[in-house]
Amino acid sequence: MGEVTPPFWERPLGTLDETEWEALCDGCGQCCLVKLEDADTGEIYDTDVSCTLLDTCTARCTDYPNRKAKVPDCQQMTRENAGTLPWLPETCAYRLRAEGKPLYDWHYLISGDREAVVRAGISVAGRVISEDEVDAIEDHVQIEGFEAIRVEDEEE
Ligand code: SF4
Ligand code: SF4
Repeated sequence: MGEVTPPFWERPLGTLDETEWEALCDGCGQCCLVKLEDADTGEIYDTDVSCTLLDTCTARCTDYPNRKAKVPDCQQMTRENAGTLPWLPETCAYRLRAEGKPLYDWHYLISGDREAVVRAGISVAGRVISEDEVDAIEDHVQIEGFEAIRVEDEEE
């Protein structure tokens, strides 16, 4: 009996083609939140403020093909840097695979359900505010990890 080929999300990142690479993203949107860096300590703080191009309801980039032109500091995930970006969430599929870890059960490639990432509390959909609507990003720092607030909470 021949060897069973593992699904692409279990293979090393370096072996994935472009379609497989793009499909690895769970769509959580956490990498599209603004981060603030302490100039003195280098410490990075999460915020509940999203990039201008993120649809805050769906956590999807609204112009993915042109994102680099519109948001020059949008971080391009690569096979080389996926395991080296300390601000990536521990749940990020690229980070997990770069570290040789399996995807979580809620990942759509495992669960078959694109909404499972929302129910698992990993997606930022409906939980963040766009940078276009924020005056002082400093007021939106999340000190203890990712504890994004709901937009409606902010408006109360
Ligand atoms: S954090 Fe990782 S898995 Fe989540 S949207 Fe960004 S690249 Fe995709
Ligand atoms: S340009 Fe798109 S992919 Fe890049 S950070 Fe903004 S929303 Fe995310």
